[in-house]
Amino acid sequence: MSLSRFNALQAIENRPDPIYFEDEGAAPAIASYFGENVFGEEAMKKYLSESAYISVKASIQSGQKLSKEVADVIANGMREWAQEKGCTHFAHWFQPLTGKTAEKHDSFFTMTHDGRVIEEFTGGALVQQEPDGSSFPSGGMRSTFEARGYTVWDPSSPAFIMESGDGKTLCVPTIFVTYSGEAQDYKLPLLRSQSFLDKAAIPVCQYFDKDVNKVTATLGWEQEYFLVDEALFNARPDLTMTGRTLVGRPAAKNQQLEDHYFGSIPERVYAYMRDLETECHKLGIPVRTRHNEVAPAQYEVAPIFEEINVAVDHNQLLMDVMERVSRRHKLRVLLHEKPFAGINGSGKHNNWSMGTNTGTNLLSPGKDPAKNLRFLTFFVNTIMSVYKYADILRSSIAHAGNDHRLGANEAPPAIISVFIGDALSKLLNQIANGKKTDDAAVKRAIDLISKLPNLELDNTDRNRTSPFAFTGNKFEIRAVGSSQNCAGPMTVMNTMMGLQLIDFKNDVEKHLAKGLEQEEAILMVLKNYIRKSRAIIFEGNNYSDEWKAEAKERGLNNFANTPEALDVLDTKLAAEFFGRSGVMNTKELDAFYNVQLHNYVTKLNIEASALAELVTSQVIPAVLRQQTELAQNIAALNAIGLEKSTTLQKETLKEIITQLEAIQESLASLNKQLDKAHHTENVRDEAEVLCKKVKPQMETLRDAVDALEGIVDDQYWPLVKYREILRVH
Ligand code: ADP
Ligand code: MG
Repeated sequence: MSLSRFNALQAIENRPDPIYFEDEGAAPAIASYFGENVFGEEAMKKYLSESAYISVKASIQSGQKLSKEVADVIANGMREWAQEKGCTHFAHWFQPLTGKTAEKHDSFFTMTHDGRVIEEFTGGALVQQEPDGSSFPSGGMRSTFEARGYTVWDPSSPAFIMESGDGKTLCVPTIFVTYSGEAQDYKLPLLRSQSFLDKAAIPVCQYFDKDVNKVTATLGWEQEYFLVDEALFNARPDLTMTGRTLVGRPAAKNQQLEDHYFGSIPERVYAYMRDLETECHKLGIPVRTRHNEVAPAQYEVAPIFEEINVAVDHNQLLMDVMERVSRRHKLRVLLHEKPFAGINGSGKHNNWSMGTNTGTNLLSPGKDPAKNLRFLTFFVNTIMSVYKYADILRSSIAHAGNDHRLGANEAPPAIISVFIGDALSKLLNQIANGKKTDDAAVKRAIDLISKLPNLELDNTDRNRTSPFAFTGNKFEIRAVGSSQNCAGPMTVMNTMMGLQLIDFKNDVEKHLAKGLEQEEAILMVLKNYIRKSRAIIFEGNNYSDEWKAEAKERGLNNFANTPEALDVLDTKLAAEFFGRSGVMNTKELDAFYNVQLHNYVTKLNIEASALAELVTSQVIPAVLRQQTELAQNIAALNAIGLEKSTTLQKETLKEIITQLEAIQESLASLNKQLDKAHHTENVRDEAEVLCKKVKPQMETLRDAVDALEGIVDDQYWPLVKYREILRVH
């Protein structure tokens, strides 16, 4: 009898040394190969004609359309570059609403009508492709007879070469739209939000600096992940099917000692990280930071921040590369938000700010008082925008995996609030409490701002429990799930800030029309905002129960699960939010909402049936063996008059019987509730049953299984245990 668990453990023991790098002397400087697989500045200059280069630059900077001729020149240059590097194929690379990336490969090789074999990449193929859209979620935007979807080149994100084994493919970042041009991906709304924010922010910047003519949102993500051994991973059907363990008893030693965080990196993991970093650097992903995270087997990687569109692509690419590289090392990377119960899950902090063409970070306070008024303007407007649109921000991070984290006392709560730290809190209070907005009050406020401490340096004042924290020169959005596409929440951030800045400008203009000085007018508006948005600021412990009560009193929403949070997308607020900004029309929004709900329902259905099968086909048989053994033991002892020595066995047996009954009962309810879910009228109702009825049954079932894991003979237990999988050998 061989259990896959022991085979897996044996496989690790017998494995030759893990793949470490051959030490070939000093590692080459990263700068010598950084971006070598990117069709960036350098490659463009070398492979494009002067005029094509100028056109593509203009297109990147101002979205200017490219002529067919220019597209042909660019495509040809890209092909030459890619072929020299060993590419045989090209692919439009896009980000459908599945949350993953997608690509369809075509060869450069083709045949002409007269049968000649040639290699080509035309402008037409570069600019637009028609993958079979029918298998991608569209939320009902496409009917089956109109299944076509188009991918369209996005010149603002550079093409790159994806290496997979010996295969090399030229990947062209694209957006994915319907026949009539509606967004069906994460990228088009993101790009629209970026240009919306740009337009809204420029006039506000010009209050302070007339030279500003471009504002770009910036993003630096921090990606958390788990690494586990491949053999052990494969021996856990729940992990292979759902990305998380559906049962599993926490190991005696997990993260209580907190000895993993920032601890020394195990050698095998270190080899993986180095390999990953090399791959990333070749792709121009500027990863820079690596360290252990809080939970055992948990790690983090973070880059230098970039312009938001490229940063989003780089994160999507990273997740893909992480997965590929892990296989080389006989490891598996887990990007799920909560792969293991009882220890921390994984998030993806999104550090967000805005930068100008003049090189200014708009959320960076300076020493110069005039500049500080600009900082204060963008700072207070961000807070005001969160105050107004917190619910939409919450909806943008809603998905099945993240439900296990948010509010679970290890990650930010489902309640959105803003943390700004002591110094800034005091400053805002002083400004808000200033009496009338006469000259003297304004002067006092300006004076106060000029004395702002250097926040960039003073980064000690941190609140790790806040979902939305100011960290010196940027806001850090911490409630994003580790597996999510950053584009979702980042689209919302850009949009809410854009809307807010338009309102701000209008408010300031009203005061200016009444003859107020500019500084005075700005301060008056800010003062008003500070007063209005007070409810969203929270400096205390976000994990506490008191906060839940207080937030309620303040009128802040607490959407505890995905279906509730997604309902926000079905409100007037959301329609206006996305409509007024032009980021999504009602049709797109409706489709987006439907796809998200559908994703949720699908994930929960898979989890529920995977769990039912796991318990029925693996756990119960193991428990029954143990049960039989105990019963036989008791009978044997009874037969030779040793009844008195059977108490322990009987108690264990009783416990087993109790837990088996619990399993039987919850399996029956689980199946009943699943059946009910499948017979609901619509996907929202199905989500409700899955969330409120099926999920709790899965928990009950798990409790019984986990209790049994602690009783049943270790040799009989079929599933790799936490203590085994969380220790990378
Ligand atoms: P932490 O202590 O939270 O790890 P870091 O200073 O290391 O803070 O920054 C975390 C992330 O924030 C990095 O990816 C960094 O590049 C990014 N970041 C820094 N400045 C900005 C900015 N202006 N806009 C966006 N992201 C930024
Ligand atoms: Mg951080």
